[in-house]
Amino acid sequence: MEAFEDLIESNADYADGFAHGELSAPPRRNLAVVACMDARIDVYAVLGLEPGDAHVLRNAGARTTDDVVRSLIKSIHQLGVTRVAIVHHTDCGAAKIELDSLRERVTASTGHDPSDVDFHLIADEDQSIVDDVEALAASPYLPAGIAVAGFMYDVRTGRLDRRHATTVGSSTAAADLDR
Ligand code: ZN
Repeated sequence: MEAFEDLIESNADYADGFAHGELSAPPRRNLAVVACMDARIDVYAVLGLEPGDAHVLRNAGARTTDDVVRSLIKSIHQLGVTRVAIVHHTDCGAAKIELDSLRERVTASTGHDPSDVDFHLIADEDQSIVDDVEALAASPYLPAGIAVAGFMYDVRTGRLDRRHATTVGSSTAAADLDR
């Protein structure tokens, strides 16, 4: 089978029954979700989302990377997003990667050591949620009032647990304004 044949066949069926052609681009629920790329997580089903509801950004570990910030700047400033949910999960590969062996594999098969790539590995699953929420909320490009929350999704039970939440500008920035 050609590498993408299965996808092309599936899409033919999807397009035959397509019913979302009238959707507009701004997320209807003013929501962006940052989730891990883990194949077990059906972000739409987990959060009860429909097409048109949210921006869904995914990367290894659901980390707050420069590229996540880049996308969210557009979400927030041009497309009406006012809340960002960061969804980490149990049994995450980003917490289990052995960096040395990964680098060895890449080097062995390509001849190039990815020493300049930041893999944003997770050292502590609980702390990483707090770190990613706080890193996003601390971005100078997010306006006051944006809600940011971090969640842990359990891949064994399907349950989501809210772990850490903040609102941009709610503490130090707001306090500064009062003086
Ligand atoms: Zn993961």
